[in-house]
Amino acid sequence: MTNTTSEPSIASVARTIIRVLGLPEGGLEPEAAGADQRVLALAPAAGVKKLLIYAPDAIGRQVIGKLPEIFSGLEAAGFAKVPVASVFPSKTPVCFASMFSGLQPAGHGIRSYEKPVLTCKTIFDALPPQGVRTAIVAVKDSSIDLIFRGREVDYYSEPDDSAATVRALELIAAGAHDCILVYHQEYDDLLHATDPWNDAALAAVKRHVRSFEELTAAFDKKWGGMPRAALFAPDHGAHIDPATGKGTHGAGSGPDMEVAHFWKFQ
Ligand SMILES: [Zn+2]
Repeated sequence: MTNTTSEPSIASVARTIIRVLGLPEGGLEPEAAGADQRVLALAPAAGVKKLLIYAPDAIGRQVIGKLPEIFSGLEAAGFAKVPVASVFPSKTPVCFASMFSGLQPAGHGIRSYEKPVLTCKTIFDALPPQGVRTAIVAVKDSSIDLIFRGREVDYYSEPDDSAATVRALELIAAGAHDCILVYHQEYDDLLHATDPWNDAALAAVKRHVRSFEELTAAFDKKWGGMPRAALFAPDHGAHIDPATGKGTHGAGSGPDMEVAHFWKFQ
């Protein structure tokens, strides 16, 4: 495995989103990581008006390598693959707190599998005052459903991934939001129950990509002609625990930490 320490981490996503939307700096904590220059180089100078963020749990770079035809399809559709490092410990609430605050775990305070409401600034604090109407669609009681509460955004808690997709499609069609974050978790559920590389788990990854394609198609149909961006942003990877034979994650190196995001600007 390649050393990922020189890559921007998923914490760069928060300030990248601020810059991509053309918003003033300052909405995040001063310590938030800098924007990812590789992404800014793809974005229109004046920024985009609409942003769709799809956050599937636990899809690391190793999964991408196991389903090359699925992910090369995303690249063929115009998505740029951007390798990024996760944060340690590579657990879901820790990672999404970093991704949307820009802070390392010591900065935002979630250092283990716990889901308190964050008290630091996040993009969900930064966007609404700038007029960016924002929605979070997540499976009920998941990390994303809980840790960003109390902001001026619309929250939708859904029973499962399919319901989250239906809700997000309704919201996209209604057009009342400028930024929508959608979270799915089926692959993470399956890799813990079995292992990350079996056919049933990989079929869930395919469903995640298909959901993303469905969401982006609806997003493009709604906002065609409007400057916009779509982002596929998983939190961490996974590996097999030799003691149990089942999938797990949380390590500070290796496949748990190796992630890739996909961005498309139109
Ligand atoms: Zn997990």
